[in-house]
Amino acid sequence: MCIFCKAAKREIPVKVVLEDDDLLAFHDINPVAPIHVLVIPKQHITGVGDVTAEHAEVLGKLLVAARRVAEDAGLSHSGFRVVINQGQHAGQTVHHLHVHVLGGRPLAWPPG
Ligand code: AMP
Ligand code: ZN
Repeated sequence: MCIFCKAAKREIPVKVVLEDDDLLAFHDINPVAPIHVLVIPKQHITGVGDVTAEHAEVLGKLLVAARRVAEDAGLSHSGFRVVINQGQHAGQTVHHLHVHVLGGRPLAWPPG
């Protein structure tokens, strides 16, 4: 079982900020911004490179949850970034779909 499937089942400790039947949001263990939360589907999906129309509902829920996480963290006014890394060039290290919610400081663009 992958590390985020274990997180979804609470078999490894994570600092949860939001949960429902389909999703879990928790603090990134190695934050790169003052706010760095990951939102994952409880269902194992390898990455955005593997999604199909069947996943449309859960993908929509991930974005709604990302907005809620950002709002709860007080980022609505200042802004925030939502990132999904896919594959080697994007630096994906965990092969279970996850949405990064980043904020709390100005974020450079374009990304490195
Ligand atoms: P990515 O590079 O997009 O695959 O991002 C994976 C993210 O998962 C990184 O930001 C890691 O710091 C984070 N991460 C890895 N293991 C854990 C964990 N056990 N709990 C929380 N975050 C984790
Ligand atoms: Zn998984």
